[in-house]
Amino acid sequence: MPKVLVIGAGGVANVVVHKCCQNPDVFEEICLASRTLSKCEAIKAGVAANPRVSARAGSIRTARVDADDAAQVVRLIEDVRPDLVIHVALPYQDLSIMDACLEAGVDYLDTANYEPPDTPKFEYKWQWAYRDRFRDAGLTAVLGCGFDPGVTGVFSAHALKHHFDEIREIDILDANGGDHGLPFATNFNPEINIREITARGRYFEDGAWVETDPLSVKRVFDFEGIGPRNMYLLYHEELESLARNIPGVRRIRFWMTFSDNYLTHLRVLQNVGMTAIEPVMFEGRPIVPLHFLKALLPDPASLGPLTKGKTNIGTILRGTKDGKPRTYYVYNICDHQACYAETGSQAISYTTGVPAVIGAMMVLSGAWKKPGVFNVEEFDPDPFMDALNRQGLPWREDFSPTLVD
Ligand code: NDP
Repeated sequence: MPKVLVIGAGGVANVVVHKCCQNPDVFEEICLASRTLSKCEAIKAGVAANPRVSARAGSIRTARVDADDAAQVVRLIEDVRPDLVIHVALPYQDLSIMDACLEAGVDYLDTANYEPPDTPKFEYKWQWAYRDRFRDAGLTAVLGCGFDPGVTGVFSAHALKHHFDEIREIDILDANGGDHGLPFATNFNPEINIREITARGRYFEDGAWVETDPLSVKRVFDFEGIGPRNMYLLYHEELESLARNIPGVRRIRFWMTFSDNYLTHLRVLQNVGMTAIEPVMFEGRPIVPLHFLKALLPDPASLGPLTKGKTNIGTILRGTKDGKPRTYYVYNICDHQACYAETGSQAISYTTGVPAVIGAMMVLSGAWKKPGVFNVEEFDPDPFMDALNRQGLPWREDFSPTLVD
């Protein structure tokens, strides 16, 4: 029976461990390893205290690992002998963990693409460069298997397989209608979140990338379960893989909602230099302003009990079927408080951790087991779409959505 090694012990890892425990027929043993052992132990204690999964706490082992050091990860893999490594630490560790998986001969799955610590790039090139090595080793690496990237790619593959002959346009819409009542907080890792939002916007059109000033393109969309919200065009990593993997697509854009309050705080922080990633000298030692800001902001995991409201994340696709134009919208609505009651994490962590576990199930069952490095839209979407409905992220579809112009 399969054994997994989960690396990272944040909000997403907490959901991953709870969901693995809910599926004992697939995940017999779980090793949870991270840089700070006490965080792994806290997650295990959370499982032990949760009546739905408490009986599984004994199947969780915890360990300490610095995943920036591939040699440490290799030693841990050799000790644990997992069938798959689920990497839900930070994007900075993607390559060292992929190196370790290659050396120790184990499959790999993550939820965010590699980023060099000193330049926010959100590019797949470093990880795609591992293709031949994984293929030659007969190992599978699944990249970006959260919600976005992740489910939004599976939604696109599902649409292409079942509803279109050709997809011309894809709009990914990510709305968080949750309210935590705090003046300012990010709902996942503040450093990654702020790097993503303050970067220049970019979208794909007619074979080229079009750049926009950060947060300069805005639309209003009426999200089911949330209501009308301002959403802003951002660059997001799945645009790169979808542009490559959805044949004939002409335009792909990504939109995310932000409240005016959130943007005002962010603007001020940016204006005073607190979001910078270049070190500055302070009292004789270099500090990275964004790292210092992260230390001041609430830990996203602490927002779980506070956050009320829903998320709505989905994909609107336009193209043709049987020679006629077609529009198709597929989306999920997730409730923060329901996620917290089930796992002790809010919906942002839940909507990332559940797809990671489903991706793990796909690899372990053989449905997505093929040698090489793949983005999720390169696999058969059907078993994954079925599992979303069973594992807590049911999807809805609409053939006449409000269009985004
Ligand atoms: P958190 O910041 O809450 O947790 C990250 C965890 O990784 C922490 O436990 C941290 O340990 C650990 N970690 C950091 N560096 C190392 C290291 N060198 N070795 C071992 N462990 C390390 O993040 P989240 O749980 O919110 O997010 C996890 C991942 O999911 C991120 O990569 C994020 O980008 C991604 N994500 C993807 C989404 C998607 O839809 N695809 C959406 C949201 C997130 P410590 O506490 O010691 O620092």
